[in-house]
Amino acid sequence: MQLSNLAQNLGGSVIREMFNEALKMEDTISFTVGEPDFITPRPIIEEACRCWESGMTHYTPNSGVLELRQAIAEYHANDLKPDPANQIMVSCGATEAIQMALFTLVNPGDEVIVITPAWPNYFGQIGMVGARMICVPAREENGFIPDPDDIKAAITPKTKAIILNSPSNPTGAVIDKDTCKALADLLRERDIFIIADEIYSRLVYDDAGYTSITSFDGIMEKTVYISGFSKMFAMTGWRLGYAISQPDIIRNMTKLHENGASCLPAPSQIAAACGLRQCQSEIENMRQSYLRRRDLICSLIDQTPGLSIKKPKGAFYAFVNAKELTEFTGMNSRDLCMDLLKKTGVVTVPGSGFGDSGEGFIRITYATSDENIKRGFERIQGYIQGLGF
Ligand code: PMP
Repeated sequence: MQLSNLAQNLGGSVIREMFNEALKMEDTISFTVGEPDFITPRPIIEEACRCWESGMTHYTPNSGVLELRQAIAEYHANDLKPDPANQIMVSCGATEAIQMALFTLVNPGDEVIVITPAWPNYFGQIGMVGARMICVPAREENGFIPDPDDIKAAITPKTKAIILNSPSNPTGAVIDKDTCKALADLLRERDIFIIADEIYSRLVYDDAGYTSITSFDGIMEKTVYISGFSKMFAMTGWRLGYAISQPDIIRNMTKLHENGASCLPAPSQIAAACGLRQCQSEIENMRQSYLRRRDLICSLIDQTPGLSIKKPKGAFYAFVNAKELTEFTGMNSRDLCMDLLKKTGVVTVPGSGFGDSGEGFIRITYATSDENIKRGFERIQGYIQGLGF
């Protein structure tokens, strides 16, 4: 018997491929999975334990417990000002919120614009909706910030939505205010929904500042804003994210979510509310650590022949240009990463996994200890020397 076409045709993520390959080896140093190495702040864990102990073991409202929706509304009181009653949906990670947004906004056959290099889950998620993905490459020389003219050129009568991710996984690009304004001007009058994935918005460095496209007039009406707790509070394993949008969109997303994940555990939700209200300083402490690690990794890359990078301004990824090495060895980025893994135990992700325009790059996550970064780079430098480069 045949499995569904959808299941058969959906490709797996290259991040997992590298991860699985590394599981077969010993003494690996991993720069792959995009998750903080920190443990969730203590008050959040304690609050969750207290809730479990008190017997909070039941279903919750599909859109999330009111206490968490209220805490999210307070957190966004100065920007999005959502009504906790009908403009917020709590989801199984930001991942599920994006999927529900796509199911709510897009029909099979519609086109969805994605800026590449991009988080590979978008590719699978658009595939699951049966829509057509239109990739618009962002160029390294522009700091991987999308060019509004390129996006304009990609728009057709079938374009139904665009996913904008800032700060970006995998490039760390933070879309600047002028570009955000130009994008807002481009999209405002068009019948195109925006999925604004801003899950890394608290991880911005230097004087980059942070502008959300939702801050421009007439944009929030057509946007599903996506965020979550995975990166903010190092809560990846808790699987908690949220979407904010206009009531009609949230009502429909919640209808779909009811039939999928249904709802999230009450203790996790109450604990996340506690995090939003009580753990803002922990976010800043983690951000300072990532900033230090970013500077460390960029200086190590600068000292490594064959690799180069422009300092990323947000998230916790270095999207490293390795084109000199791919040209020298004749290997593409996937083969290069696999060869590096097999010879040194260092796990990285080939840029091609984030879209064709990522070929020749390697993604290195710096949400790992200074010690790991230093040891990993010793091995990478030894490997490059061994290539005879
Ligand atoms: N968006 C982006 C750009 C991401 O990198 C990730 C996680 N890697 C997510 C969304 C999903 O995060 P989660 O489901 O853990 O909230």
